[in-house]
Parts: sequence; structure tokens; C-alpha cells
Amino acid sequence: MFGLTDRELDRATNTLGLASYRKDQIRQWIYEKHVGDFSLMTNLPAQLRQQLAQQFAVTESRVAEVQKTAGAAKLLVEFAKDLVVETVVISYRSWSTVCVSSQFGCDMGCVFCASGVGSPAVNLSSQQLAEQLWHARIFANQQGLNPVRNIVVMGVGEPLANFDNLLGFISAANDPSRFAIGQRRITVSTVGLVPQIKKLADTGLAVYLAVSLHAANDELRRRLMPVAGRHSLQDLLSACRKYTEATGRRVTYEYVLLRGVNDTDTHGVELANLLKGHNCLVNLIPFNAVPGLSFAPSLRTEEFRRVLEQRGINVTTRRSLGGDVSAACGQLRNRRK
Ligand code: SF4
Repeated sequence: MFGLTDRELDRATNTLGLASYRKDQIRQWIYEKHVGDFSLMTNLPAQLRQQLAQQFAVTESRVAEVQKTAGAAKLLVEFAKDLVVETVVISYRSWSTVCVSSQFGCDMGCVFCASGVGSPAVNLSSQQLAEQLWHARIFANQQGLNPVRNIVVMGVGEPLANFDNLLGFISAANDPSRFAIGQRRITVSTVGLVPQIKKLADTGLAVYLAVSLHAANDELRRRLMPVAGRHSLQDLLSACRKYTEATGRRVTYEYVLLRGVNDTDTHGVELANLLKGHNCLVNLIPFNAVPGLSFAPSLRTEEFRRVLEQRGINVTTRRSLGGDVSAACGQLRNRRK
């Protein structure tokens, strides 16, 4: 069996004693024509297709379920019977973005999120991350969606807690002979693991960083995100500033708006004061209700946005991808169990 790595493609072609152009042909089928079935690789001799199919598989994962809504689709990618992860394909005007999960389950325990509930984090391998991207590309192609151009590692899990596999995935995504997606089209999200943000800055990579902030003071942030007990806002913002200095990339701060919890004008002023002077963008996220949790979506998105803009903060509002695909983190996987 082989997966999606160049090394394994080499191993397959060497095992069968194939000329190097055959490897290129197979690679083109897999990465450029989005074909994972050897029998469909029509420029290979029939006997070779048969041999390949008997001895290898392009991937052992499969898309077990798809939920669609206008502009987005959530794929459940199954690696093994009890190892199913979520990958979301979001279609924009002229491109699609893939949202990849970095872990199965999550240990971060954000109180407004369904993903961590009941599932301890298991790191996904760099190959499993790459396979999500590969399935998403095939899906986009088959559905006639715009080509996949951007990646956000923002699905279930904490990417920086799976650091080495994340780097392996970024390398695969960048590789011109594989996915050929440039670093400036990749965004890695984090709850704010300060040492790992510094480590990422030191790698020499220049991917975008999105930090889940959700509160502008330590006390409220600790209530919403246990990780805030480990790293103060001051340390977090200082690490983010260094990240921008090292990479030239402006940091995005994610802020999920929870009704009556963090969405008042006072919270907005506090946030604007906290970020004053930072080269950053605030991304306001509409909350998708999570069954069993008491948080409700904010009704003040526009007012909150105005408070920030009036104080010179750059703001965007994330398009709501809707409860109709159970798009809030982790819900589809939980529902299927
Ligand atoms: S929001 Fe992200 S980091 Fe927080 S618990 Fe959910 S999956 Fe984990």
C-alpha cells in the first residue's frame, strides 16, 4: 500500500521496476487529474494498472458522508472505522478554500465548542492532513466547484499541538509536484499556544496565523478557553507581534460573538484598546448554536463591528456557513456517532 508521498511513489515504481516517466504519469493522475483509481489511469498499460491495483492503493481513506449547503460542503473523511475527521470545502467567487482538521478530537476544551466533547485529541499524520486536501480537491472537481486555492487549518483540533505533522503537511501542500499551494494561501489557526507560535516563527515559513481570541481580558478569556490559564493575553500578543516581525504576515484575531457574553460595546472598546497599534485583522465569527450548550448567537454583530472600526481596527465578518450543514466545529462528527 502507498499513500500520497513522493517517497512512497518512488517505492512503488522501484518495486515494480518502472521507468521514471511512469512515476510522473502516476503522479499526474493523482495530483493533477485527481484520480485515485489505478484502473482509470488510461495512459498506463492495462497489465501495469492491474499490478498496481493488486499491490498498492493511492489512499486507504474515503469520504464517508457529505453535507452540502449553499457555498459549503462538509466531508467526513474516514481513515479507519473509528477515525473519521471533518474537512470543509467553501466555495467563493473564483476559488475554493479547504478547511482541514489537524486532530481527531481536541483537548483544548473551549466551552462554546462541540468538538472537544468526549474525544481526547489524537494527532493526525501529515499524510492524513494531505489526504483531506486531496479528497477536497477531488470533491471540488467532481462538483464543478471553483478550484481549491486556499487552505485553512481551522477544523477540529489544535494545529500547533500537532506541530511536526503540521509542518509536513505544509511542505506537501507547497510542493510544486504535488499540491502546489503557496504559503501565502495557507492559514494556520491556534488557540494561542505561545511557545509554538514562537517556534513557528523560527521555522522560516511564512504562513498566515489566525489566533482565537474571543475575549479582550484574561478573566473572560480563561472562562471561555482553558488554555488562557497557561498564557496571558500580554504574552500572546507579544508572541503574535514577533510572528509578524519574523514573517511579514499580519495576524488575524478570531472573535466568536456570543450573546451577552463578549458582544457588548464595552467588550468592543476593550478589544480595540487591546489591539491598538497591532498590525492585525479582527475576524468576527457568528456563533452556530451547539446542542447542549447554553451560548446563543449574538444579535449585535454590526454594532460590535462599528465600535472596532470607529477605533481604527481592521475588521471582517466571517460568512456564516450555517447550522444547516451542522457547520459548527465538531457537530457533524458527533451527530454521526
Ligand atoms: S474551538 Fe478548536 S481548539 Fe477549541 S475546543 Fe474546539 S476544536 Fe478545540
